[in-house]
Amino acid sequence: MPVNVAIVGSGPAGFYTAAALIDQGEDVRIDFIERLPTPFGLIRGGVAADHQTTKKVANKYEKTALMEQVRYYGNVEVGRDIALADLRERYDAVVLAIGAPEDRVLDIPGADKAGVFGAAAFVGWYNGHPDFCTLNPDLNVAAAAVIGAGNVAIDVARLLGRSDQELATSDLPEYAETAFRRSPVKDIYLFARRGPVEVKITNVELREVGTLTECVPLVNAAQLPEGVGNLEDREKRLKERNLETFKEFSNRDGQEKPKRMHFEFYAAPSEILGGDKVEGIRLERTRVEDGRAVGTGKFFDVPCGLVVSAIGYHGEPLDGAPFDDRRDIIPNDDGRVDAGLYAAGWIKRGPSGVISTNRPDGVTAAEHILNDFNSAAKESKPGREALETLLREKNIRFVSYNDWKKIEAAEFKNAEGDRPRKKFTTIQDMLDVLDER
Ligand SMILES: Cc1cc2nc3c(=O)[nH]c(=O)nc-3n(C[C@H](O)[C@H](O)[C@H](O)COP(=O)(O)OP(=O)(O)OC[C@H]3O[C@@H](n4cnc5c(N)ncnc54)[C@H](O)[C@@H]3O)c2cc1C
Repeated sequence: MPVNVAIVGSGPAGFYTAAALIDQGEDVRIDFIERLPTPFGLIRGGVAADHQTTKKVANKYEKTALMEQVRYYGNVEVGRDIALADLRERYDAVVLAIGAPEDRVLDIPGADKAGVFGAAAFVGWYNGHPDFCTLNPDLNVAAAAVIGAGNVAIDVARLLGRSDQELATSDLPEYAETAFRRSPVKDIYLFARRGPVEVKITNVELREVGTLTECVPLVNAAQLPEGVGNLEDREKRLKERNLETFKEFSNRDGQEKPKRMHFEFYAAPSEILGGDKVEGIRLERTRVEDGRAVGTGKFFDVPCGLVVSAIGYHGEPLDGAPFDDRRDIIPNDDGRVDAGLYAAGWIKRGPSGVISTNRPDGVTAAEHILNDFNSAAKESKPGREALETLLREKNIRFVSYNDWKKIEAAEFKNAEGDRPRKKFTTIQDMLDVLDER
């Protein structure tokens, strides 16, 4: 008697859950329900377009997707096309692995001016995510500000700093590559509320900006502490590496390259300046007390024509599932939400950690599913066949994994030069590929 499992969302958390279910060797049938025709969540739509090696993790997920027990139903949004209750009725277990797709709002005066974007939108735009492909940010600016001190902030800053040649091996959609190439940006500011020790940028990403061909990272030596303070061994080593890298950046010459990436610490944004469109940003100098940024009452302005705020993501409620408004997650007990309902990844824990941080969530969800099913010793629910009947009744056009491979083959075929693929950025264009055949 197979256990029929529906996994909502085909990002890392969904795939780690599926792989763990299969690894446990029991009779399982797993169906992915994904709102986009394209699988892999933030691997396609978040991981930076110039980090193709990182995106290769999708090859591992594909091995899972192609297993006999697994099916993919893309272009089906739970909460819009079908209800969560529809899945719970038809499957023994439903796993919510829907990520945390929304930007945390930059809540300061002027944040609604043209030219101010959240990272989810800006990153989605340069990654060709259908939700954001029409964003059209104006990159015709001399200076840009990125707010935040994590890997997403550095991704955005790095892409703005890249040379034409460096961009030519990315999978930026044509509109984004053209906008980056034409951009006259010379000064890219990264504003961090706290100090160099508190930044959450991983050292590989930090060192990488020291190797850009046309952009030099700059740090004011006066903002660098002597040491990282009292920390646990592992954390201490990581922070020390970053501090060493920042020290190296503080010796760089601003004239070395045509573009400059300024790391500005102890700077909290307080207002976006300008008329309808952003013309600058006002920041308050801070100091760090007990790990928190505290304002000093001293302000300074930096002119810029673009602001991207990378201050974090948050989850969204899904109809039919509980939601914790304070933590912006689906409340759960180590992945268990309710009888037969589970959560994994960012919607379970909140938006933090790297790709592999989602793996243990998948393993835990799989263990709970199999334990709960076996201990209840019930008849399995119909699963896949009942889902397909429902999709047909509702006239919902789903995209199978095989269909996705056709879309992907067209993306590979259309790629020019050293680009790995030419992404389709609208759902219609993706579906048209399938209709052409
Ligand atoms: C901009 C950015 C860059 C990153 N870069 C890196 C990096 O370089 N290296 C690294 O290790 N980590 C990186 N990360 C972190 C990594 O991407 C996340 O840890 C991981 O993607 C979280 O996995 P997830 O499955 O929880 O969510 P997601 O990857 O967001 O997947 C959720 C999936 O659910 C689908 N979905 C949502 N709602 C529904 C619905 N109602 N019905 C059906 N489907 C739905 C979505 O379309 C999506 O496919 C980055 C994160 C961001 C935001």
